[in-house]
Amino acid sequence: MPPDAGLRVRFWGTRGSIPVAMTSAEIRRKLVATLVRAAGRSLDTPEKAASFLEREVDFAVSHTFGGNSSCVQLDAGSTDYVLCDLGSGAARLRQRRPRRARVRAATPFHVFMSHVHWDHIMGFPFFLPIYTPTNHIRIYGCHAELEDAFRRQHAPPFFPVDFSGLSARIEFVRLEPGREYEIAGLSVKAKLQRHGGDSYGYRFQRAGRVVVYSTDAGAQAGRSRGGPVASSSSSATRTW
Ligand SMILES: [Zn+2]
Repeated sequence: MPPDAGLRVRFWGTRGSIPVAMTSAEIRRKLVATLVRAAGRSLDTPEKAASFLEREVDFAVSHTFGGNSSCVQLDAGSTDYVLCDLGSGAARLRQRRPRRARVRAATPFHVFMSHVHWDHIMGFPFFLPIYTPTNHIRIYGCHAELEDAFRRQHAPPFFPVDFSGLSARIEFVRLEPGREYEIAGLSVKAKLQRHGGDSYGYRFQRAGRVVVYSTDAGAQAGRSRGGPVASSSSSATRTW
């Protein structure tokens, strides 16, 4: 990968506890606000309407966010996929089509798990890359029960496809908090956070750029209910 490639963060899901969809009433409020704003305007083509939405309607009205539970992608410019958590947002991730020359090569996925509460693993059975034989998926985490939690989610009566029936090559890798690892071209370090059953934040560094993924971290054990935050500010990474 080019040494000056940045670190891009894509949020596939950011909600904690349970995924939610917008209600009809919320959609209606957005439509009403937009139609009032568009009064008297000539928006007679999809292009004009799209441009109007982008330039003249508040982001909070023209967009939505946070419906799915935690899944965040880190794009470091390589062909490897780097993800944090596999909440319901993971079901929205679509794998890029491999170039012809790479069709036979395994596609690496690296998934860093903050913890295995249900909202952070519920997207895994619907994460399509697990059904592709040429994918190699490594799931990293610091919890002793990491692998067991994923396997149990696929056991009857919870899901019709047993873990042994998944096509991809899936590996679980236990990490030690505080130790620095080189994974997918990134320096990665996990840090213990206060949360019921513990959770871990991750610091990713590459070529002087840092991203911290931190979710379910409370001031008091067992009190946090927040969704994920990915920060690249120096203040957020000072203590790592
Ligand atoms: Zn949790």
